[in-house]
Amino acid sequence: MARTTFYIGMVNPADPFRQSLGVALEHSLRFLENLDDAPVCPTASLETLRSRLARELTDEGAAPEQVVSDLVRDVEGGILGSTGGRFFAWVVGGVLPASLAADWLTSAWDQNAGIHVSGPAAGLVEEIAGGWLKDILGLPAGASFAFVTGCQMAHVTCLAAARHALLERRGWDVARQGLYGAPPIRILTSGEKHGSVQRALRLLGMGLDQVIELPATALGQLSPEALERELDAGGRSPTIVLLLAGDLCMGAYDPFETLIPIARRHRAWVHVDGAFGLWAAASPRYRYLLRGVEGADSWATDGHKWLNVPYDCGYAFVADPEAHSAAMSHREPYLQRHQEARDQMDWNPEWSRRARGFSTYAALRQLGRKGIAALVEQCCEHAHSLVLGIGRLPGAEVLWEPTINQGLVRFLDSHAGAGDPDHDRRTDEVIAKVLAGGEAYFGGTTWHGRRAMRVSVCNWRTSAEDVDRAVEAVRKALVDAGRKTT
Ligand SMILES: *Cc1c(COP(=O)(O)O)cnc(C)c1O
Repeated sequence: MARTTFYIGMVNPADPFRQSLGVALEHSLRFLENLDDAPVCPTASLETLRSRLARELTDEGAAPEQVVSDLVRDVEGGILGSTGGRFFAWVVGGVLPASLAADWLTSAWDQNAGIHVSGPAAGLVEEIAGGWLKDILGLPAGASFAFVTGCQMAHVTCLAAARHALLERRGWDVARQGLYGAPPIRILTSGEKHGSVQRALRLLGMGLDQVIELPATALGQLSPEALERELDAGGRSPTIVLLLAGDLCMGAYDPFETLIPIARRHRAWVHVDGAFGLWAAASPRYRYLLRGVEGADSWATDGHKWLNVPYDCGYAFVADPEAHSAAMSHREPYLQRHQEARDQMDWNPEWSRRARGFSTYAALRQLGRKGIAALVEQCCEHAHSLVLGIGRLPGAEVLWEPTINQGLVRFLDSHAGAGDPDHDRRTDEVIAKVLAGGEAYFGGTTWHGRRAMRVSVCNWRTSAEDVDRAVEAVRKALVDAGRKTT
């Protein structure tokens, strides 16, 4: 029989993976080992990338190793150096070696980690790593958890549990009756909340009109008086109080020790967004910021940010496992359940899912408790020297000196009579110059009505040398930007 010319069966049926994985390994090592010297910013234009990648989709396909080496060549200049040490925009984090390797294995093993029987080791690793996480993050040992794609879906998972529990107390079964005719749930929070919380509320049908934004102090903290007043005013209406452990600009923490008892007295559900900030709990030096946080009802955080696990990895924790599983669990006769092991489908919003526990398990084992604390503290120290270093440059101003790993600076227009609109323009101009230089990557934002450059450090690779190189890159950008305007 004539051999098929299609590439389903591979060129070499006896050894179908070796060549393509070999190309991938070789390239991955080259990429990771070259990060310190490569530009942090993309160097290829959109047109270039598109013209390379938009190949004809053929009828016959191609040899696997060919596909992989083409891919490596075609994306050249279109891969951000965000996993290297000089990327300070957004809160992204890098990848730990053990965690990356475990992530590769996760793809090779290709388990469907939906239920225990479809991936026994995958399920068990989540069960174990979930326990470790609660311990490291200082959360109640009895809390349930889910490994989800990121903090966004952790919010959805936690707030689905909140919706279930709050309505059940009022005799309303949201799973059966839906939200039509249900008592509206109020959401109280400060103006510093992250947009992913709003999206979770939209997805869950709770609606943005139910969000009541309460005043925050100059430190970005929700005011206890405002919370108490609003809870009193709401009478017995079901209420979620959204608190923040680490906002994107200042790394601000709500005062949990004061706020949570107030919310509890009013029988509100307290949810904490701790996407990266919850990790301060791992450090004896920064743990104080989270005092009282264990009294909340649910917590959302990420693995792919400060823990330096590859994407996608977030964690949802719920103090009341019954509320959690009531919101998520699903039974089908064809899904065989295990009596003694944890079935992820009882806790997760997904059906089929990636066995994402392996990379977390590996990261936690590589670092150990002290390593996690050191990672957190080291990032905070670098953020601090980076912000102060930039602040010392002529024409720079520190807007927020980091308490943890987030800071803000801006750049001033030196012309006589220059005002905020001029400083805003100057700030954006300097950021653009830094990015064009390719040495470091920062993001811009509008903070308290003014343009600012955000400085965020959450990568294990960032070193003191990276900090020096980044400050020098900003110094050069300031000179260049000055040249253009005068
Ligand atoms: C990043 C972030 C989120 C969203 O997390 P994802 O992992 O991107 O879904 C939510 N809240 C805060 C404070 C964040 O920094």
